[in-house]
Amino acid sequence: MELYSKDISSLIEELGALPGIGKKSAERMAFHIINLPHDRVKRLSDSIIHAKENAHYCRECCTLTDADCCPICSNPKRNHGQIMVVENPRDLAAYEKTGKYDGVYHVLHGAISPMNGIGPGDIRLKELISRLEGDVDEVIIATNSSLEGETTAMYISKLIKPAGIKVTRIASGVPVGGDLEYIDEVTLLRALEGRTEL
Ligand code: ZN
Repeated sequence: MELYSKDISSLIEELGALPGIGKKSAERMAFHIINLPHDRVKRLSDSIIHAKENAHYCRECCTLTDADCCPICSNPKRNHGQIMVVENPRDLAAYEKTGKYDGVYHVLHGAISPMNGIGPGDIRLKELISRLEGDVDEVIIATNSSLEGETTAMYISKLIKPAGIKVTRIASGVPVGGDLEYIDEVTLLRALEGRTEL
């Protein structure tokens, strides 16, 4: 039996399909939204649509942005000779929140995973390699410490080292199998400071 009418059920269903949102949270969010003033709901739905329509990859670092070049890449105060390679924009955000890293990033949008059929051509590696033709002193590999993250780190290191560019890997302290985005800032900083050359 349907507990709610069609429109309410469909809102709950859509919210419940989002990552990390269970049935109960979806219900709570749905009723919260329904009780909001109309202009707030319009702002929420507009922001979802605008973000979806305007978001694309930064032409430098491949993170999600709505500008041609993201705010980090277009900031002349950042050290453009130091590139930190991360798996996704959330990992970039995690490091950015420490406020202590002044280099730039490269977002791979995934990691190499032979088991899941994800090869080097399926992530944004080509884009990273073409960036290395510029003035780059160091590539810091900050992929997750999962099997996929380690495989990706090794692959990138082998690819880059012949070019004579320093390649480092963030230190452990990041728990094995841990997702960077859930790790506290102190641990992230320690991992960055203790990075070792590959
Ligand atoms: Zn960028």
